[in-house]
Amino acid sequence: MQVIPPALEELISQFARLPGIGKKTATRLALNILRKPPALAQDLAKALSGLHESIQLCSCCFSFSESDPCTICGDPRRQANTVCVVEQSGDLLAIEKTDIFRGHYHILHGVLSPMDGIGPDEIKIRELLARIRSGTVNEIIIATSSTVPGEATASYLTDIISKESVKLTRLACGIPMGMDIKYADKYTLAKAIEARSPAK
Ligand SMILES: [Zn+2]
Repeated sequence: MQVIPPALEELISQFARLPGIGKKTATRLALNILRKPPALAQDLAKALSGLHESIQLCSCCFSFSESDPCTICGDPRRQANTVCVVEQSGDLLAIEKTDIFRGHYHILHGVLSPMDGIGPDEIKIRELLARIRSGTVNEIIIATSSTVPGEATASYLTDIISKESVKLTRLACGIPMGMDIKYADKYTLAKAIEARSPAK
């Protein structure tokens, strides 16, 4: 006996294809949409169907954008010669929120993970090298995560970029602001010591 109507079952299974959404959450989302006025479902469908048509990758930094170049690459007030290398578009948004970085970005769209078959050719490393070799970049800031794949990607990038004539820096992984150092985990603390800068 079919307990869940097929249309609802279909929506649940589509939601469940998304990362981090299990069957339970997918069911809750689908039922939630069903309980709301039909306008919500229509608005969602409209937003989803137009997504890929209106958003593309910026051919310079590979961030998702409605224009090419994206608003950051196309902004003459930003420093095109300083490029911050991040794993995903979400990292760009996080850095933008700090409001202190005025350079450009390069989105790798992943991290090196040989176990999952992700090597240098699977992420935008070749494109980064081409960008460096075009001569428009003075400084590369590696801003990958402090995870095992993030660190592996950073050291691979350090290896290959140090052969290029460009200044190479890394985000200092410090103690979170306001946190007593004794509460920091030893990894964070070690990184903070390693990345120490002259005291002012
Ligand atoms: Zn861009």
